[in-house]
Amino acid sequence: MAKRVSIAALVLLVVVGGLLLAGKWMVKRRSETVCGFCNRPIQPNLGVIAEVGGRKRRVCCARCAITEARQEKKPLRLISVTDYTTSRQLAPERAWYVEDSRAIACNHDMAMVDQDRQVEHLAFDRCSPGTFAFARKEDADAFVARNGGVVHSLQEMLGEAKPQ
Ligand SMILES: [Zn+2]
Repeated sequence: MAKRVSIAALVLLVVVGGLLLAGKWMVKRRSETVCGFCNRPIQPNLGVIAEVGGRKRRVCCARCAITEARQEKKPLRLISVTDYTTSRQLAPERAWYVEDSRAIACNHDMAMVDQDRQVEHLAFDRCSPGTFAFARKEDADAFVARNGGVVHSLQEMLGEAKPQ
């Protein structure tokens, strides 16, 4: 009887352990593809690695991290950004940033797209206006020619983001 109980306990332990490991793996996988602040999927050519208040996360775009830092009044450090043209990782201080364009970086809520009227009256969105990073100034300028917006350096973008 005692032996049977211990075998049952062992089986239970293995099952629970396996579930925990699977859960951990899924959380890890999720944290690599989903924004650490807004939970929206991270697009491969827009992902940013940012540290807000000492916590490092993958984020959907720089604007989302800036919004978080502002709201939490915590220091922001961009660790890595993605070149929108090539999807390559890029040092933040070497990138050019386009903001206030008509292009929407984090438009994952399809309801917003379908209802045309809602776009006009769009309420605050933490990721708007989306920030697009570029390795080459020419690419940023070309993007602005197509979609509107303003090209900023890292300092200009972050300077604007400092809490008042
Ligand atoms: Zn986000």
